[in-house]
Amino acid sequence: MNSEMEKLFYWLESETTNIQQQEDLSYLESLLAATDKWLDGDLRPEGTPSKEDIRKAIQLTVLKGMQENVQPHHQMTPDALGLLIGYLVDLFVKEEAISILDPAVGTGNLLLTVMNHLGDRTRAAGVEIDDLLIRLAANTGNLVEQPVMFYLQDALQPLLIDPVDAVVSDLPVGYYPHDDHAAEFELKGEEGMSYAHHLFIEQSLKHTKEGGYLFFVVPQALFESPQAPQLHSFLKANAHIQSVMELPSNLFKNAGHAKGILVLQKKKEGLRAPKEVLLAKVPNMSQPQSMSKFFMQVNAWFKDNK
Ligand code: SAM
Repeated sequence: MNSEMEKLFYWLESETTNIQQQEDLSYLESLLAATDKWLDGDLRPEGTPSKEDIRKAIQLTVLKGMQENVQPHHQMTPDALGLLIGYLVDLFVKEEAISILDPAVGTGNLLLTVMNHLGDRTRAAGVEIDDLLIRLAANTGNLVEQPVMFYLQDALQPLLIDPVDAVVSDLPVGYYPHDDHAAEFELKGEEGMSYAHHLFIEQSLKHTKEGGYLFFVVPQALFESPQAPQLHSFLKANAHIQSVMELPSNLFKNAGHAKGILVLQKKKEGLRAPKEVLLAKVPNMSQPQSMSKFFMQVNAWFKDNK
């Protein structure tokens, strides 16, 4: 931990606890109230923390709130994963000004990690169905001064968002409860319910420019489910699979929730598929030597295939 960030975290945590003690609010609601006051100038931290200090301090405080009130469907994307996706976006997307969409933006941690990593080259849209999380995301976005438009809605309903250069998203996994909306997707379950994560992939491709890239955190077993053949043929028709990466299990508390990264490029006339798909295993991210080998593998693939 860097000390500026630590100081900021302890300050925010103590302001949040004060609010919680004075008002009848949950920890996360109190954190939201603290960030409201911070934005209004009623609370002010010492020093001049950087964008990353602010994002990380809020992230640690959110994590504390989530421990108090377990929210299995609202797992924040771990930092290491956000940084890895930021690296991949930087490598693949060559536009000088990049538009990004995260259709399941949650607390905004993944999206803002990627945006901070890319400097001032990005603007973004974030969609989230949970009112508290999106308000936290919006306050964090304002505090780190990143240009993000937030939409509080079901991302699988029609979106008023122009096609983007890149999608980054840690997809919600499981069945989508609204069969009537699911029926409008090619990836609707042929027999029975539809997988939300499949519908999110289709919706994201719809909102990506031709030739744009998509970076998803997906269940490790994405291509092993009973509905995988349908997903395969949909992807074959609409995108070029660039990479499928296995993430290290220590990133996730529950081994049953093992995840991977799927990188796609939306098809465009004249654009060819890579010679081979990059199949890689991401090593333990706290081991710099293994990580630098991994980055060498990714860069070598990129040189041969892009
Ligand atoms: N990347 C996020 C972060 O860093 O906080 C975490 C994303 S979390 C794995 C998935 C998110 O999808 C949850 O916040 C959940 O509320 C949201 N979600 C689930 N179904 C949704 C839907 N139909 N439309 C929009 N958001 C949805």
